[in-house]
Amino acid sequence: MGAGMVRKPIPPPVEGGEDRLDRRSLLTAALALAACGSTRRALAADADFRAFIEGVRPEAQARGISQATFDAAFRDVTAPDTDVIGRTKKQGEFSRPVWEYLVGAISPGRLDRGRAHAARLSDTLGRIEKAYGVPRWVMLGFWGIESDFGTSPGTLPIVRSLASLAYARHRGDYFRPELLAALEILQRGDITPEKMKGSWAGAMGQVQFLPSVFLKYAVDFDGDGHRDIWGSQTDSLASIGHYLQQIGWNPAYSWGYEVRLPQDFDLTRYKGDLAEFGRRGVKRTDGKPLPATGSGSLFLPGGLGAPVFLITDNFEVIRVYNTSDSYALAVGHLADRLSGAPPLAAPWPTNAARLDNAGLKSLQEGLAAAGFYKGDFDGRAGPKLREAVRQYQIKAGLPADGYASPALLAHVSGGR
Ligand code: CA
Repeated sequence: MGAGMVRKPIPPPVEGGEDRLDRRSLLTAALALAACGSTRRALAADADFRAFIEGVRPEAQARGISQATFDAAFRDVTAPDTDVIGRTKKQGEFSRPVWEYLVGAISPGRLDRGRAHAARLSDTLGRIEKAYGVPRWVMLGFWGIESDFGTSPGTLPIVRSLASLAYARHRGDYFRPELLAALEILQRGDITPEKMKGSWAGAMGQVQFLPSVFLKYAVDFDGDGHRDIWGSQTDSLASIGHYLQQIGWNPAYSWGYEVRLPQDFDLTRYKGDLAEFGRRGVKRTDGKPLPATGSGSLFLPGGLGAPVFLITDNFEVIRVYNTSDSYALAVGHLADRLSGAPPLAAPWPTNAARLDNAGLKSLQEGLAAAGFYKGDFDGRAGPKLREAVRQYQIKAGLPADGYASPALLAHVSGGR
């Protein structure tokens, strides 16, 4: 590729007419040039990537990772995974309606598989329950959602994915320590680089732990000397149980309950003791009593007229695993269904208009301008937005369901 060609002037576009052929050949030359340029850029990026990896080496050494482990980990990692970097723009759980997410996450097939696993692994699950105090159904719920009970543990080499994310500085400094943690796992010999696979975002194996989570919470429950969340179902389930215990799962109550509100229920009082909710006429849809202890808050992920949940602190424990509300509901409800609970009683507003991420972002901005919202403008529904919506609704005299609907956005926008 001659440098002179780069300077060859390209005429301004001409509509139709006599010089079409010329324009086409110029276009071809320009495309060839661009391709050549992108190859050169790719090579430069690869060299840059390798320099980045070498830059990690001293940090790894300081953490006790040997040269041999380091070299083995990066043996096949010569270029960043551009697919992984491209994936950083999407996060499914935040953009789909919760009801669509639930339909996909709790399919009849998955329920059948989960029940079969529950029966087959009953003794093992009993021992894990005893060790960590987390109900088997909850561990099965996580296992089912994270990897379809171990059948989708992820196929991408973890070191390459993490190196790519750290190199691209996706989420700033977030992934560099995860890369180092992955190397530490290799150093300890829990797994080999070839078998250390997971998702594009660095979540590993049947339980989709990030390496830092693995180092703190993964356990060798089958006693073979390796914490194996890739090949061992026992280690996988026990690692989930141990993790949940350590981050505060309270065995005294569930993650939440689908409930029915009495007529004229005062939605402005949406937090409190579970027993108090019971005294105010809130009833579980499965007919069982609410627990006598513990506190909770109302969660209406589809607004009034859709399923209403009374969620406990355990719901927030699930959200430590993954911050999406839809995810947490899916894990919780799958656990319930596997334990024999019926499907949700109330229907979802599947045909109602809903806010997409751009709409949620507008709502966040509107509520911030009105002094109700202090979180990020990320277009994601979550506890902070829910709280802001409720405070706005209470002030405006609207039913305080906390639901970020198109009608609410219109109200907020009109009020400015
Ligand atoms: Ca093991």
